Amino acid sequence: MSAELIERYNQVLQRIQKAVEQANRPADSVALLAVSKTKPVEDIEILAEQGQKSFGENYLQEALQKIALHPNLDWHFIGPIQSNKTKPIAEHFNWVHSVDRLKIAQRLSHQRPEQLEPLNILLEVNISSEASKAGFTPEELMEAAPQIAALPNLRLRGLMAIPQAATDLENQRIPFAKMRQLLESLQKELPECQLDTLSMGMSGDLEAAILEGATIVRIGTDIFGARDYSNKN
Ligand SMILES: *Cc1c(COP(=O)(O)O)cnc(C)c1O
Repeated sequence: MSAELIERYNQVLQRIQKAVEQANRPADSVALLAVSKTKPVEDIEILAEQGQKSFGENYLQEALQKIALHPNLDWHFIGPIQSNKTKPIAEHFNWVHSVDRLKIAQRLSHQRPEQLEPLNILLEVNISSEASKAGFTPEELMEAAPQIAALPNLRLRGLMAIPQAATDLENQRIPFAKMRQLLESLQKELPECQLDTLSMGMSGDLEAAILEGATIVRIGTDIFGARDYSNKN
């Protein structure tokens, strides 16, 4: 079990490295977020021993149990956020990728404990304009971002997206390229912010995302294997 996990993990690291080379980008310009949702804490421990520091979680109760066991790993919340769940998120995570409205950002800022570093946040963009998906439209984003950037206990770091799935590289690149352009627009609007992060690319499209400037790829299935949701509702 653990040998297989380590093998898959190393294969993903190699895919990232190859894509970074093809994109002519510096070797350290893309970070791997290991998406460990629904997976046991033992899997996280095996990867942490291999040097993996950053883990992504979608389900709050499950995540809080894992964080309690390993508070010094780097924890990223990447799932949908209900406003009544912002307090534990603000208290226990280092990053939130899925901020999709101003109200959520305001609550996270208000509830971030003063003794902790500001919470790193990304604004989720509904880049393929899908009715079923969360996220700002590009227009909403340009309006909300300056207000969010002004909140005291947050550090606005960039953008996140989950585009509509496409199977070939050229079609996968289109929404990722739009994301890169949106981040560039935001950098011009908010020159005082450290807008250095594009969280995009999953198991099926990490190469396309890296070619278009992803700085964090979020990989679950290709590291941990398929997820079993039978204990989730
Ligand atoms: C589950 C999830 C991932 C990982 O997706 P895989 O296709 O399993 O690599 C990435 N990002 C988000 C937001 C997710 O919810």
